Amino acid sequence: MGSVQIQCTRCKNVFRDRAARLQDGYSRQCPSCEVVLFFAEDSQHPFVKRAMRNARKVRKEQREAEAVRRAAPEPRLAQSRSFTGRTQSAERED
Ligand SMILES: [Zn+2]
Repeated sequence: MGSVQIQCTRCKNVFRDRAARLQDGYSRQCPSCEVVLFFAEDSQHPFVKRAMRNARKVRKEQREAEAVRRAAPEPRLAQSRSFTGRTQSAERED
């Protein structure tokens, strides 16, 4: 979950990466032709622009989903004693 499609600017291969990583200054290799793709907010390349726009959208949706989950009332009375370790991996990236 939380991944976006990226199209290689050289070989046009389509692959996926985590939306949380796809931010300004990120770079990664194409798994097909091994060219290094650079992701910058001011990139002029349409493939890079599209991938970054999609990543922003996915991150926004994830933040909103997380906010909804936190705001939703949970059945604490019955389950609170067995859920002690549930917050540990919540907000690492982004
Ligand atoms: Zn490639």
